[in-house]
Amino acid sequence: MDIEQLKQLQDVDIHITDIYQEKNALEETLRNDEDAYQEAERTIEEFTKNYEQLESEKKAKEAEIQQTSEMIKRWDMRLKEAKSGREYQAFMREINGAKRDISEIENAVLKIMEELEKIDKTRKEEKQKIDEIGQRLQQTADQSKARISVLAHQIQELELQKNSIAKGITPSMLSMYEQIKKQRQTAIVGVKKSICQGCHVNIPPQLFNEVIMNNKIILCPHCQRILFYVEDTVVEEQKPKRNKKAV
Ligand SMILES: [Zn+2]
Repeated sequence: MDIEQLKQLQDVDIHITDIYQEKNALEETLRNDEDAYQEAERTIEEFTKNYEQLESEKKAKEAEIQQTSEMIKRWDMRLKEAKSGREYQAFMREINGAKRDISEIENAVLKIMEELEKIDKTRKEEKQKIDEIGQRLQQTADQSKARISVLAHQIQELELQKNSIAKGITPSMLSMYEQIKKQRQTAIVGVKKSICQGCHVNIPPQLFNEVIMNNKIILCPHCQRILFYVEDTVVEEQKPKRNKKAV
């Protein structure tokens, strides 16, 4: 009978599934940490870009102030050489206008400086966050990676074990098992007190007897899983029956 080998095969399969679950969970945590790290890196990069852009705006404005001050100096010299009151007035107007320009630009520079300070503060906070993630990653990543490789090795071993068990099973039976497993996850289930442990539906008495005889593959009429007979419960059930007969 293939049923014993199929049960062994299923045990190995369940073991493989459990290991995959642990491995997948570890890999997901690692991926999430790495994503969070990269996300924080991108944010810092953006802040830096923004900071640099504002800094160059600030430099341009400071150059503008410098140029305007030099213009004022030149007008100041010409003012001293003014030949008429009208000329003097005209230079004065230019100088006053330029001074207003400078004070406007200076205000803009102040605003930029405030903005720069704000960005710098946020950038520092982001940097701290990224350092924390980085530290955590370093602490856990090596450990997780080592565990993942152990698990991958275990899966390999179990696959080998599975292959060697599968060699002893009729190919048609094997493909039936794989088919049911694909649909129902567990392909082989016990029958306890004539109830299928896969779908918890009662097995008709005739069919249950066939399961007990254990000389051919019986499928649950309800969930189509391969059934096997669970001896323990039958022993429990037989005891009181025998006692009754004795009485
Ligand atoms: Zn069933």
